[in-house]
Amino acid sequence: AAGTVLLGKTNMDEFAMGSSNETSFYGPVRNPWDPARVPGGSSGGSAAAVAACLAPAASGTDTGGSIRQPAALTNLTGLKPTYGRVSRYGMIAFASSLDQGGVLTRSAEDAALLLGAMAGFDPRDSTSVDAPVPDYVAELGQPLNGVRIGVIREFFDQGLEPGVGKLVQGAIEALRLHGAIVREVSLPALPLSVPTYYVVAPAECSSNLSRFDGVRFGHRCDSPRDLLDLYKRSRGEGFGDEVKRRIMTGTYVLSAGYYDAYYLKAQKVRQLIAADFKRAFAEVDVVIGPTAPTPAFELGAKTSDPITMYLNDIYTIGANLAGLPAISIPCGFVQEGGRDLPVGLQLVGPHFAESLLLSVSHQYQQLTDWHRRVPPGYE
Ligand code: GLN
Repeated sequence: AAGTVLLGKTNMDEFAMGSSNETSFYGPVRNPWDPARVPGGSSGGSAAAVAACLAPAASGTDTGGSIRQPAALTNLTGLKPTYGRVSRYGMIAFASSLDQGGVLTRSAEDAALLLGAMAGFDPRDSTSVDAPVPDYVAELGQPLNGVRIGVIREFFDQGLEPGVGKLVQGAIEALRLHGAIVREVSLPALPLSVPTYYVVAPAECSSNLSRFDGVRFGHRCDSPRDLLDLYKRSRGEGFGDEVKRRIMTGTYVLSAGYYDAYYLKAQKVRQLIAADFKRAFAEVDVVIGPTAPTPAFELGAKTSDPITMYLNDIYTIGANLAGLPAISIPCGFVQEGGRDLPVGLQLVGPHFAESLLLSVSHQYQQLTDWHRRVPPGYE
């Protein structure tokens, strides 16, 4: 409706479950910065297409980091809006209380343009929020001066690769030198976000994916003997390993004997995480830290160990659990194996603070040119 030309669909992890785009039925996406490495996931195809300059912008969805983490690994700006800001109508549901659509672009300015077109109330999504959409582009000019930025202590943990940490600290220092007021904040429940997410998200996906029974949606097996055979073989043949793992986990945590111990407990911890953010936002305007603990890793490096793969989302999941807007922007490169690998800086804001996230990012992008770099061979 806004006049954009849609160029095509992009590859992604199956049902958006993954952090490396290696669970796709169609095979993995490669990272234009190093084809031996993953582009991140699940919106890996969106990220690779924009990073390789095949398209100026792409949409993506972010349930636990799938816009921000691929943006970080491919040198893009990736914005996950507040839950409810962008309609989920037409999206295939993964974990409905966490899913949110957003944008992958090369600059905060492009993100502002695209978000302005995508955000807004939609009566077809019952969680869509009926609040006016600001002029994100006009508000990009908000000064950095006096913006209170809280550095998340828990994000500078042992899992953070030192080279990544150094670049993120450097970016925070640049923001401070240009007028931001920087202080440390502590969000003690945040380290629990991965285990919390891997109860809540599988629980919701096991329910959402129950509709893929071979009757109205998705794959249907050949010549079923009876109804049960249709369900079993359609689901058995159609879903990939990671999706099956999640459905089994989700079904388990929701089952009568385990509901209180896992699902209910996770919902309580989710509230603690949201309360941590709320407390932080009483003192600062945005919080900041790395987007991912490492730069892009090699294809196959984590596929045999789901837990290691899940830990890649340790810094992004909190924003989804709390429904908060968050952005990843390029903040430099580390060198590995003779390649420049991009690193992302993440900002998380209070609900509906997209304008502030975009303006801080835009101001940072006026001071730096990381976001203008393009992978060798794609100039
Ligand atoms: N990597 C996370 C997962 O596998 C997040 C995925 C997403 O945001 N869609 O669930």
